Amino acid sequence: MGKQNLVVLGSGESGCGAALLGIKKGYAVFVSDHKPLSAKAEKFMLEHGIDHEHGGHTMARILTADVVVKSPGIPDHLTLIKEIVASGIPVISEIEWGFRFTQKPIIAITGSNGKTTTTAMIHKLLSDAGISAGLGGNIGKSFAAQVMGDEPDYYVLEISSFQLDGMVEFRPHIAVITNITPDHLDRYNNNFDAYIASKMSISARQNSQDQLIYDCDDPVLAREVAKRNFRAELLPYSNEGVLKHGTYIDHQTLMIQTNKNTINMPTLDLQLAGIHNTKNAMAAATVGTLLNIRKETIRQSLEHFQGVEHRLEHVLKINNVSYINDSKATNVNATFYALESMSGPTVWIVGGQDKGNDYSSLLPLVNEKVKAIVCLGIDNDKIIQAFGNVVDMLVETSRMEDAVQVAYRLADRGEQVLLSPACASFDLFQDYEDRGRQFKQAVRQL
Ligand code: ADP
Repeated sequence: MGKQNLVVLGSGESGCGAALLGIKKGYAVFVSDHKPLSAKAEKFMLEHGIDHEHGGHTMARILTADVVVKSPGIPDHLTLIKEIVASGIPVISEIEWGFRFTQKPIIAITGSNGKTTTTAMIHKLLSDAGISAGLGGNIGKSFAAQVMGDEPDYYVLEISSFQLDGMVEFRPHIAVITNITPDHLDRYNNNFDAYIASKMSISARQNSQDQLIYDCDDPVLAREVAKRNFRAELLPYSNEGVLKHGTYIDHQTLMIQTNKNTINMPTLDLQLAGIHNTKNAMAAATVGTLLNIRKETIRQSLEHFQGVEHRLEHVLKINNVSYINDSKATNVNATFYALESMSGPTVWIVGGQDKGNDYSSLLPLVNEKVKAIVCLGIDNDKIIQAFGNVVDMLVETSRMEDAVQVAYRLADRGEQVLLSPACASFDLFQDYEDRGRQFKQAVRQL
């Protein structure tokens, strides 16, 4: 029998990892990318002798595949994908591909917001407890590439809904869902239910030995878990109510109750601001409890967690004004929590590429905390419409340097300048990281 054929669509970090794993497992591998290869990918293909094409897709060749691994950036509605699916070839994600070749337990984190932060918290917690853990998914190195080597004891994986859509057998031992709010609906035919179903599928194949940790203060998430007959042990967390099972706060005490363990400790004194980070830490502490990590270690690890770049990142204090980079807030819900965590009057830099935003949930917070708005986008009409009557001052800009200069002039001592755009960055920047870096650079040049 000849070799099985693996076709990998996309040559980024996950595509290269998937290709390499394919070669190691004896597949004939072909990588196809409609864009030119990056220098890194080019070098990688040469080094490993991987057959590839770029600048287009050769359909006849792709249809010889036994399995196709697709980059999460490629939408399902493309003719390319429809044709592959119609010819009966399974199209899976790199995470599913890696999963087929490892026996190690997986902790998988999904949600609309907070994935990266919570994943990083959990990964640090395991490392601080002396447990070897690989970090992958939307963050760090390709999971498939890690599966080939000397494996760690656990994998901590950040999983997007696009990756979940390409799962067949994937079964994390511990799943975390941080929240579900509308995002990326353009990829789900504007159907919120389809997006919800994708997120919830993280627990679909879990069994009674597994756990599902989720924020039960999120009404969508609470409702959707209740609707489903998941087999995993359900471990909700809440900072609002007292629960029978799960993680909650009672009289300044953090209580964590799982089937096997109970831990109580004083509430955590986090370096990260905001209720949302308290919640992310509750999810991480629940994972720690499940893994029998000592409570002193859980406490220390989470209290020392510094946060991730571009997520409510403190940049500098100039003339007693704090500058905060929350460039990763690419939707309204993330910005809600950013504004919520501001302690005093705030000059708010907002705007970018609109994803069908509804700003109404921000009105009370803007009323209470925002003294001036600096719009930073090509088209600011929706923001002006939503908030023009709420704040005294609204200025339009279209360059980061200008936005920061204007904010500098508007902010008084003791106040804050917050970049939390609630929009995608692609109108003026390469991506949210580029936007965040430009912000920090402009602040440092003040
Ligand atoms: P993701 O990986 O899901 O995009 P990040 O951790 O990168 O999440 O955070 C994205 C944005 O959401 C940041 O602005 C961050 O401050 C905010 N955020 C973090 N955790 C939460 C949460 N639990 N709920 C709502 N917003 C959050």
